[in-house]
Amino acid sequence: MIHPFTYNINPARIVFGPRCLAQAAEELRLLGINKALVLATPFQREDAERLSEQLGDLSAGVYANATMHTPVEVTEDAMKAYAESGADGLVALGGGSTIGLGKAIAYRNDAPQLVIPTTYAGSEVTPVLGQTEHGVKTTVSHGSILPEVVLYDPQLTLSLPREMSITSALNAMAHAVEGLYARNSNPITSLMAAEGIRALRDALPGIAANPADLEARTGAQYGAWLCGTVLGTVGMALHHKLCHTLGGSFNLPHADTHAILLPHTAGYNAGAAAEALSPVAGLFGGSVGGGLYDFAASLGAPLALRELGLSEADLDRAADLAVQNPYWNPRPVERDELRELLQRAWKGVRPE
Ligand code: NAD
Repeated sequence: MIHPFTYNINPARIVFGPRCLAQAAEELRLLGINKALVLATPFQREDAERLSEQLGDLSAGVYANATMHTPVEVTEDAMKAYAESGADGLVALGGGSTIGLGKAIAYRNDAPQLVIPTTYAGSEVTPVLGQTEHGVKTTVSHGSILPEVVLYDPQLTLSLPREMSITSALNAMAHAVEGLYARNSNPITSLMAAEGIRALRDALPGIAANPADLEARTGAQYGAWLCGTVLGTVGMALHHKLCHTLGGSFNLPHADTHAILLPHTAGYNAGAAAEALSPVAGLFGGSVGGGLYDFAASLGAPLALRELGLSEADLDRAADLAVQNPYWNPRPVERDELRELLQRAWKGVRPE
């Protein structure tokens, strides 16, 4: 049955395909940017410098100090570099950390953004910015944060290491799984979510076998785009709340935490959201939690929170924190049940 719904579309121009990086200069001109500051992490500095050379007169230089969790001090330093370089726009080349820096600058000065994602995290198609000040991470949503143009060149993901490719793609899949049962879900995002999960399911075994498989990389980036769009359009629930808590309070790595928790949180909600999750059951052998767990295991993904260095003694505090200011969730979140879920995820036990 189709329920009443409201659907807000986030406007963005998407350019997709192997070697579309060659279109970056043309896209900057279309966007009205005369000089773009190219952003990257220190690790991707060389890639950013190559892109800056490719852009020629359209480049205002490189700022390669993007940092995980978007610390406000880094943003302030980058704002100075932006002003000194005479830039009138941004190019972010990288994963969620670099894209976060571009969004943080745009939030402050409304700079137009061309984003070139090299992971599957999905931040490029959301109007949401998470930033950290004095160790506290807060999120803000605003129209100026949403990048105007996204250029998806799967060629750029070939260098993403195998394990990170898998966890990053499972991170993307988590956006779509939660999008399916979101309280404000709608038929369009649900189509995108199911297709995004399918595309990732089909592509990931190929990437696990050979990270240089361009066809599999292309399928994965297509899926990641759809899943990111779902994240940017509808509300998230227990899974994202739990990952946010574990990432923020215990400093666990973002993509790995998502990858490990997804089978457990999806399994927790499987009964309460059976109809919404039926595409997931259909794609993973009839069982939502167990099927997602078996899929992750088949890819060699991390399966247990203890592998990330979380101690068993932290689980009580994690459960307490995760039930504070709860997100809406299709199944009520009780502290004791959540503590059990965390215990299973910590050990890496297959969900029922
Ligand atoms: P990341 O951007 O932190 O990248 C991790 C490392 O991998 C970095 O050193 C990066 O330079 C490197 N890397 C990236 N692409 C590479 C490639 N193709 N080849 C080799 N190395 C590469 O990781 P991420 O998972 O993409 O982003 C995580 C961050 O994004 C978190 O802070 C998360 O909160 C944020 N995020 C925000 C949103 C949002 O909507 N606001 C959505 C998803 C994620």
